[in-house]
Amino acid sequence: MPHVVLVAHQESVPFKELAKLAGVLQKQVLEHLQPFWQCSATVTAEAEWNRVPNGSWPIVFMNNLPGPLAGQHLQHNGRPIAYVETGPWQSVIASHECLEMIVDPNGQSLLRPTHAAGTLGGADMPIEYLVEICDPCVAPEHAYPIDDVWVSDFVTRQYYQPTQGAARWSFAGRVGGPGQVLPHGYLTWYNLSDGRWYQSQADAAGTTSVVHIPAPDVSGQPARLAIDRLGAVKRHACFASKPRPFAQVGGTPQHCAIDLDAELARHSATFQSKASPAKALAKSVKKTTEKSKARTKEKSQ
Ligand SMILES: [Zn+2]
Repeated sequence: MPHVVLVAHQESVPFKELAKLAGVLQKQVLEHLQPFWQCSATVTAEAEWNRVPNGSWPIVFMNNLPGPLAGQHLQHNGRPIAYVETGPWQSVIASHECLEMIVDPNGQSLLRPTHAAGTLGGADMPIEYLVEICDPCVAPEHAYPIDDVWVSDFVTRQYYQPTQGAARWSFAGRVGGPGQVLPHGYLTWYNLSDGRWYQSQADAAGTTSVVHIPAPDVSGQPARLAIDRLGAVKRHACFASKPRPFAQVGGTPQHCAIDLDAELARHSATFQSKASPAKALAKSVKKTTEKSKARTKEKSQ
């Protein structure tokens, strides 16, 4: 089972607070997330970086986090790592990163809607949603409390793949229907017909508009990260149809082989590189399904 570890960079958050939040997130994962998404993780906190177990998925709290670093990245070993800026809503942001990380560790899972004619397309316009379960309800105003700590609401599988009849679209019930986006929220999809990315964005009043967005310049990092950077809420920074990509960490825990400074430097460099967005997109799309691969090829020829 994945092991998510909350840790504060340069004592940016008191350990007591982190430990309490880890308990709250563990509860959210086991009691709220797992029944809806059939995936889980152990969530703990560590007081010092060098005590973070090797192979774990760290969520690092930092003061004055540079904007592009916020959100989920991949470590050199391919496992996820997320950076959260400290502040009044850090528990909601950490919950967002934790849940999305568990549901989609690689940050680029796409889910094909089962409904032929939804709000976003029809049978003639096949799409695939980027699985970012907290983005449609990203704003703190949609959060809900667990033991007096605010956590992010998240959408269910039904939200992407509705079946007939009543359903729970988001855990806390803030989201009212499939494909619905709450004020400040967003929903991203890839259109297989035209090979372009789109986003439904809601303003503060909840009015949504569908916009074409640039292909995420993922540069080997999660598409979600690039998408989230385009999102309406700048302060923030992400499946079960795919096999778990990481082997279980067993045996004696080994302490931190992750070089945080090196990871930070590498992730900062990612945003300064001039990798071709088209190349990066082609790469991420190829990884999704054989079907989308075939269609993309057809389109580009
Ligand atoms: Zn997100």
